[in-house]
Amino acid sequence: MITPNRHYAELKDSYLFTHIAERVAAYQAAHPEAHLLRLGIGDVTLPLCDAVIAALHQAVDDQASPERFQGYLPECGAPFLRAAIAEHYRSRDVTLTDDEVFVSSGASDELGDILDLFDPCSSALVIEPAYPAYVDASIIAGRRIVHLPASREDGFLPKPSNEAQADLIYLCSPNNPTGAAFNRSQLQQWVDFANAHGSIILFDAAYEAFIEDSAFPHSIMELPGARTCAIEICSLSKTAGFTGTRLGYTVIPQSLVRAGMSLHDMWVRNRTTKTNGVSYVIQRGASAVFTPEGQQQVRENLAYYKGNAQLLMRTLDQTGTWYCGGRNAPYLWVQCPDGMGSWEFFDLLLGEAQIVGTPGAGFGACGEGYLRFSTFGSHADTEEAARRLLALLG
Ligand code: PLP
Repeated sequence: MITPNRHYAELKDSYLFTHIAERVAAYQAAHPEAHLLRLGIGDVTLPLCDAVIAALHQAVDDQASPERFQGYLPECGAPFLRAAIAEHYRSRDVTLTDDEVFVSSGASDELGDILDLFDPCSSALVIEPAYPAYVDASIIAGRRIVHLPASREDGFLPKPSNEAQADLIYLCSPNNPTGAAFNRSQLQQWVDFANAHGSIILFDAAYEAFIEDSAFPHSIMELPGARTCAIEICSLSKTAGFTGTRLGYTVIPQSLVRAGMSLHDMWVRNRTTKTNGVSYVIQRGASAVFTPEGQQQVRENLAYYKGNAQLLMRTLDQTGTWYCGGRNAPYLWVQCPDGMGSWEFFDLLLGEAQIVGTPGAGFGACGEGYLRFSTFGSHADTEEAARRLLALLG
């Protein structure tokens, strides 16, 4: 009889969002008149920008035209989109060839699939609290996980350490859930560490578009030495509201070689075997993000979320509450007051202020004592939440 992948049995059930939904539903049933302010969501709320919508419409028309109809596209991405993304990197002084960019359906897909490149016995380092996919994808692939706890003391940005070594190193900057971002010198330490140990960094740049300070790199490829130790996984989900439209990209430098094997060439082989690529229509829509008009419109949407972040930061500053994130990220990671636990603070916010956050304990044990606020909601709700937070904690 066939043996299923036994590692699935090692996965911990994630009840985080189910528990939140249950508690919120119970509260709403008991208080039907209450207007809940949902600062827990990690999904965008603004629609796609006009430039993307126009490109999507045009691409649908192409598919109706005998002259312009597109069948299969190259598995690693349409040349027009790979060129647009590589050019976007070049505009930030990162030199990439078009074929170092791989178009994907999103960062989540890639975070798991990329493990195909490495030996099943390889280990993976995860800084916690963490986006749950790093741990779960590694468990499914049977990898040994090295957990590196982050804390308020290190600003949730731990340094590399010889005590926590692994073949693969997941880094997420700006981070979900903590909103903390590595500056250039902090990230350089990880690049140097990976090169010194022969490790590979899987750099999740899903929130790079939220960076506003020049001390913080948008891409790990900006750093000297990254081309010999890093793979960058990025997405238009949060940059351009593509969570439901689906498009991401992965950068694998030609110079990334281990044991005489080119990881770039292996990924070409992987993609040409396991996918027929992303739809023509979506790739056309995505390419509009990289036009001057698209960039301008995307930045307007990001500014809307950033307005929410600034409001919440001002409020937390007024109440003397410790937090990180918010400035270069769409999340604020807030320390629960008076030594409260994550769920205790969640209940207090729900019961007293009708605010829904995400308990930090749901992102790993060292998230206990913290709560995540998202800035993806409406201005009106965020303003009301700020007023209620000031009244509750001020
Ligand atoms: N990486 C991080 C850190 C995320 O927070 C998310 C989504 O919330 C993703 C990756 C997944 O992005 P995508 O929508 O491109 O799959």
